[in-house]
Amino acid sequence: MRDQLVTRGHQQAGEQYDLDPTQKVRILARVHLVWNPGLRLLLLTLLLIYLPTANSQPRQSLVPGGIAIIKLEAGDASGYQFRDKPVLVTRIDGKPSALVGLPLSLAAGEHFIEKRDVSQTSRKFFQVSAKQYSTQHIEIKDKRKVNPYASDMERILKEKKRKQIARNRYTDGEVDVDFLLPVTGIQTGSFGRRRVFNGQARNPHSGMDIAADSGTPVLAPSAGTVIELGDFFFSGNLIYIDHGQGLISLFAHLSEIDVELGERVSKGQVIGKVGATGRVTGPHLHWSLGLNGNWIDPALFFAAGD
Ligand SMILES: [Zn+2]
Repeated sequence: MRDQLVTRGHQQAGEQYDLDPTQKVRILARVHLVWNPGLRLLLLTLLLIYLPTANSQPRQSLVPGGIAIIKLEAGDASGYQFRDKPVLVTRIDGKPSALVGLPLSLAAGEHFIEKRDVSQTSRKFFQVSAKQYSTQHIEIKDKRKVNPYASDMERILKEKKRKQIARNRYTDGEVDVDFLLPVTGIQTGSFGRRRVFNGQARNPHSGMDIAADSGTPVLAPSAGTVIELGDFFFSGNLIYIDHGQGLISLFAHLSEIDVELGERVSKGQVIGKVGATGRVTGPHLHWSLGLNGNWIDPALFFAAGD
């Protein structure tokens, strides 16, 4: 209990204020110093007061690969769709709000969510600006991962279909959008970059890369259900977690998978280990976050600058 509390407070503090490691050690030392049964209640109370204010909530970014946040009326919060897919509804600043995942391919200009009833269609509009993502050149030693053999294609196409199904999964229910970072490490590849592998253009980068040693535990950023896993050609060992209402995490290049298909995972649970499987230059965690079927920048689920 004690270690759990200290760890939780420490993680939350790190996210919110971006402490350097020496500060973290100092804070932990202070917590240990003041720890005695008499102060237990006080510390618990302080933590309970502190934790809700430390919550991070998604940020709006009205660009391709971003999120639109649209305030809704309490009596009119359900049933909205974006491009025929139901949108996630949660509380932002205490108000029911639609979180709309904007695809990287979305054109700049006016877009809308809509609700179709028998008698009428109501729309809520928002403006999307263009965003120029930079280009990244990457050298992959295993050339087969860039130009697969003809004999690899059957496997690749089967896996593509499974990934598509996982990304587009929708289940009802409450969603905890106050995310944890799945791994503490250096974010190396930014979302949305156009990528050139061994001189050949490929799909843009659809997630966040976090460099960490092989074997580093990967934590579930929020609660959910494991809906897909396995050893895939490009992604290596991967896990898909359905957080609910069309919010889907993909973790790739793992050295180890520590969950089972269909397993319900809690926030902070170890689901696997960082590795270098699939199309990679070295060990790191690739984390993609899908919303209403579109990959969006996972960094938008954390305070700016984290
Ligand atoms: Zn990546």
